Amino acid sequence: MTFESLGLHPSIIKALAESGYTEPTSVQAQAIPAGIEGRDMMVSSQTGSGKTAAFMLPALHKFAIQSDEQPAGGKTPNQEMQSSRSRGERPRFKAAQPKMLVLTPTRELALQVTTSTDKYGAFNRRVKAVSILGGMPYPKQMQLLSRNPEILVATPGRLIDHMESGKIDFSQLQILVLDEADRMLDMGFIDDIEKIVAATPEGRQTMLFSATLDGMVGNMAKRITRDPLIIQIAGSASKHENIQQRVHFVDDLSHKNRMLDHLLRDETMDQAVVFTATKRDADTIADRLNIAGFAAAALHGDMHQGARNRTLDGLRRGNIRVLVATDVAARGIDVPGITHVVNYDLPKFPEDYVHRIGRTGRAGRNGIAVSLVNHAEGMNVKRIERFTKQLIPVSVIEGFEPKRSASAPRSNKPGGWKPGDNRGGNKTSQRTFSKPGSAPRNEGSGFGKGPRTGSGTGNPAGAPRRSFGER
Ligand code: AMP
Repeated sequence: MTFESLGLHPSIIKALAESGYTEPTSVQAQAIPAGIEGRDMMVSSQTGSGKTAAFMLPALHKFAIQSDEQPAGGKTPNQEMQSSRSRGERPRFKAAQPKMLVLTPTRELALQVTTSTDKYGAFNRRVKAVSILGGMPYPKQMQLLSRNPEILVATPGRLIDHMESGKIDFSQLQILVLDEADRMLDMGFIDDIEKIVAATPEGRQTMLFSATLDGMVGNMAKRITRDPLIIQIAGSASKHENIQQRVHFVDDLSHKNRMLDHLLRDETMDQAVVFTATKRDADTIADRLNIAGFAAAALHGDMHQGARNRTLDGLRRGNIRVLVATDVAARGIDVPGITHVVNYDLPKFPEDYVHRIGRTGRAGRNGIAVSLVNHAEGMNVKRIERFTKQLIPVSVIEGFEPKRSASAPRSNKPGGWKPGDNRGGNKTSQRTFSKPGSAPRNEGSGFGKGPRTGSGTGNPAGAPRRSFGER
């Protein structure tokens, strides 16, 4: 799927291309067409799923079309004040009349949303977005409001102040977004939200995003939306208890390749899916693995449907033991023989991590999901941990130790460091998954000449797992 096929305005398509976005995430693929249609929505998705663009792109699309249809001109409240001054009249402050309001729980998120909006709206200069936040100097906020921005991104408390002092008038509001609604309720903003919603027109479009749609947030969502489309994106609900996840830190590409070779020689491996970031890498790695004697094949979007079908068929029949794939191509693969998933590259979106590891552990079996991570990518692991609300233990294989240890202290939240976690590069048993006396296949092949000190791949059974619920 492409952004063009979602029917977005050309100025937005251009901005997305400049941002390096090639395809919509799944929340975007579902929410953008509904958003363009003007539907209300209740969406359960989290940071990392691409939710900001999911609500902002349809809104920007709408405003771009409106500004195409309207001639340029019209004065901002600021300009009107100046011209009344020049006419010798006493200037009257005119309230800002935004077309869209995004409510967020925190200042940081509001700023993030505004920055993303500027990026997506870079080619539509007639649409302005500003954030109104607690802690920002009052004169600065007045100056921002005097520009009469189309889009206002605000935390509830400060917004109420401006509403009550007549600085904002919501009579022209078309779109209301509640971002991270569950967090806003946790932070006690319910009364403020109710008050703000009551000040907006009945006919508005409402989009609510939240990690969960249960309980109080679900009740509120139902009250403020009309016939909403409900979108649920895989997240923390998929704990994948039957899949052993772990991270192996690698120093460089050659270390990574040796590690991959070692992992694929694991005796307990029946079939594996290796995920790469690009189609080219999928081809290159599949070729290299074939030369090394593995029955490997690539699967990606540049392949003709016939070739894809043949590859999937080979995988199902067990003729292909290692599939090297990109995210999109591997979605939905359901082959019970897949015992291992290897993230040769980490996914771009945490949500894709969940889809990837779900390729193993099918049909009630157990699976292993290993991520090969450069030290510089630690933040990406944290994003995944925050999304899945699980820690991914770090494991070190004897003979494949990274030169740099990853033993910084961690906090007690998934996505942070804490002393005592099994993230400190602890050595873990190498033999958990190996069969005694097993000989590695393809000994002496050109691919991966690293030491072989055992065919096990870590300590899946012994590594601690934590979730928010267990804290
Ligand atoms: P969000 O969930 O909105 O916080 O977005 C998470 C990250 O993904 C942000 O850094 C976005 O810039 C990025 N992002 C969102 N949509 C896409 C996309 N379709 N392609 C690439 N990156 C994206």
